[in-house]
Amino acid sequence: MFDHNADHSEIREAVAKLCRNFPGSYWRQLDRDMAYPTEFVQALTKAGWLAALIPEEYGGAGLPLSAGAAILEEIHRSGGNAGACHAQMYTMGTLLRHGSEEQKSTYLPGIADGSLRLQAFGVTEPTSGTDTGALKTTAFREGDDYVVNGQKIWTSRAEHSDLMILLARTTPLEEGMKQTAGLSVFLVDMRAAIGNGLTIRPIRTMMNHATTEVFFDDLRIPADSLIGEEGKGFRYILSGMNAERILIAAECIGDAKWLIEKAVDYAGERTVFGRAIGQNQGIQFPIARAYANMRAAELMVRDALRLYEMGENPGAEANMAKLLAADASNEAANACIQTFGGFGFAEEYDVERKFRETRLYQVAPISTNLILSYLAQHVLDLPRSY
Ligand SMILES: Cc1cc2nc3c(=O)[nH]c(=O)nc-3n(C[C@H](O)[C@H](O)[C@H](O)COP(=O)(O)OP(=O)(O)OC[C@H]3O[C@@H](n4cnc5c(N)ncnc54)[C@H](O)[C@@H]3O)c2cc1C
Repeated sequence: MFDHNADHSEIREAVAKLCRNFPGSYWRQLDRDMAYPTEFVQALTKAGWLAALIPEEYGGAGLPLSAGAAILEEIHRSGGNAGACHAQMYTMGTLLRHGSEEQKSTYLPGIADGSLRLQAFGVTEPTSGTDTGALKTTAFREGDDYVVNGQKIWTSRAEHSDLMILLARTTPLEEGMKQTAGLSVFLVDMRAAIGNGLTIRPIRTMMNHATTEVFFDDLRIPADSLIGEEGKGFRYILSGMNAERILIAAECIGDAKWLIEKAVDYAGERTVFGRAIGQNQGIQFPIARAYANMRAAELMVRDALRLYEMGENPGAEANMAKLLAADASNEAANACIQTFGGFGFAEEYDVERKFRETRLYQVAPISTNLILSYLAQHVLDLPRSY
């Protein structure tokens, strides 16, 4: 139904084939148990898909961002969920762009072959939320170490990762100092840290996302865990956000396609009052509108990818792609559950699971409101609202 000159068609076909080994029943069982899709992540790693964006010199495939987007979209389009492992694709970029040659050659080959997992990204904190500059976790230098204290929340996949990208304050905030100054990025080896100042506590959520809160209590990490220069961490994290937003948008497009396809099939099969429910415009129109909005969002994702791959910094397009794609998948989820009627709420159709899963993207990794603020302020030159 959706082959509109799709780019990276060979990659898409190969990923779709792999995903056929992980049908709805697989994801449903994990959802029920709130369990991590270990076998799925291993299969993706073995096939090299999680290393798609790592340069060849470090053992990856050296593919462009659009290939990463195609991989993630196909996972979601198959009814699966890449949330268990997508972070590796974009957090790796922080290390790649700002890490030293030694850090890159130490870690990237292991990440590429799957022997090291870089899935955890510790930015959000309970008290600061979206206001990243107000974060309170500190990492102060003491001899050959940094000593980390504080708390992160929503650190997804921390229990299934060997390494964490951590944003912490290295210079105390003083009057007149810009809030986002004095923050630094670290690559924390969690294998050594757990039980020695790092504690992870899982958070149960409305969908199966392996998210956690993480506590740092005098955790000592070697000084060479610092990525790039001290005090430039906020800028380093920002520099990866366009890629992250575009990749998440691609997942939303995949969700929307899966949901629309399910709705169309069911609308054609389900007979009520002696005719297929899909004959009624009340059923057709919401699905048709969701389809149109998905296609429009897909164009924005492609435009953002095109600009990104030209070496530009497509902040507006990456944000709009994420906004429109998250809206499209949310709308498709609503249309799909409505089309299924009561059966939409039954676990066995996977519709209610996808409905819950795709709802997340209105809030994370950046909420819709904050994207609108970005567009208002940075694209339309309206006054800053916060
Ligand atoms: C399942 C899940 C996984 C996540 N994974 C990670 C992860 O791996 N790593 C990580 O660092 N973070 C992660 N996050 C955190 C996520 O990025 C944040 O939840 C998100 O950025 C919103 O922050 P908040 O929850 O603190 O909301 P808040 O900042 O408290 O905001 C609450 C609401 O107020 C709105 N709001 C706030 N300020 C304004 C304003 N000025 N104007 C208009 N509206 C405003 C927000 O849009 C939001 O709707 C995850 C979150 C979830 C739920």
